[in-house]
Amino acid sequence: MRLVLTGLQRLRVMDDDPPAERPGFVRLRVLYCGICRTDAKMWKEGHRDLVLPRVPGHEFVGADEHRNRFVVWPGDVCGRCRFCRGGRENLCENMRIIGFHRDGGFARYALVPKGSLVPLPQGVALPLACLAEPAGCAWHALHRLHARKGMRMLIYGGGTLGVLAALVGRCWGVVPLVVETSTGKIRKIRPILTAAGIRCVQRPREGGFDLALNACADAEAWRQCVERLASGGRLCYFSGLDKSAQVPAGVLNILHYREIDLLGSYGLQRGDMSAALDLIAGQASLFEKLIEGVISPEEAPGRLADVLRGHSLRYLLDFANWKRPVPDPDTENAAAV
Ligand SMILES: [Zn+2]
Ligand SMILES: [Zn+2]
Repeated sequence: MRLVLTGLQRLRVMDDDPPAERPGFVRLRVLYCGICRTDAKMWKEGHRDLVLPRVPGHEFVGADEHRNRFVVWPGDVCGRCRFCRGGRENLCENMRIIGFHRDGGFARYALVPKGSLVPLPQGVALPLACLAEPAGCAWHALHRLHARKGMRMLIYGGGTLGVLAALVGRCWGVVPLVVETSTGKIRKIRPILTAAGIRCVQRPREGGFDLALNACADAEAWRQCVERLASGGRLCYFSGLDKSAQVPAGVLNILHYREIDLLGSYGLQRGDMSAALDLIAGQASLFEKLIEGVISPEEAPGRLADVLRGHSLRYLLDFANWKRPVPDPDTENAAAV
């Protein structure tokens, strides 16, 4: 059983044989896979790195034939290019991303390059392990920002990634402030953030932040990040902006006058994912509140528009308990006639 993106806004349920074994790859039985907003975005409008037809899904946990459990680092890199050799494997010139260039985890089975398997440590619940990829992206962003203990960090956007960036930031010793304009979303995330000692507001009054990160595609949020940074501050450009968005030169000039460092962040490295797993293992009760619901894979096509609206936290597809539907004998007979 696979969910295949065959074209824009066409995610089809297909019931066919598991993929054949391939040298250098391991066939994983997928257990749970997160639906990321990027999956919903590529369903709606495509993505720079997407090649169709494709099984989406880059946030998954699975087991090999010996029942060893792994989370999947969605990169597959050459190991030879200047970026791989220079410790920046997520920028590999020959990168093949699982769920984008290669089939991903919206399927009962996934073929995963051996080098992309990250063993699941004891004590991490299987559904929670799906958060290792997005939390690893947040971990990578904190690296890019050269975050240090005691720094004040502004985060725009209280979706899953914004909250994860705040939780990871707390672990790094920074003092995050999350800005989220939607009252409904604040209601969802405030208990998580409060439990971690993190403030969340609809409209910030303060400025002079050391660090800022945009966890939403809104250009106004990006502008606010710049304006509220102190001189010498650092901005992590974490979420891409809508393609039609305009950033006024007056905002860019603030980067000039205040010597603000602008740092892009895209994806994550294997080490970021392992670090995120350790963090999740230590604070499971916080991270599990980020799971909006565990749904059957057949429900995924109907859920993407909702995910795209950004009102929900993480939905997980449950392949661990998935059973092939029992054929209806009447329909079977009708088909045979
Ligand atoms: Zn994602
Ligand atoms: Zn490379």
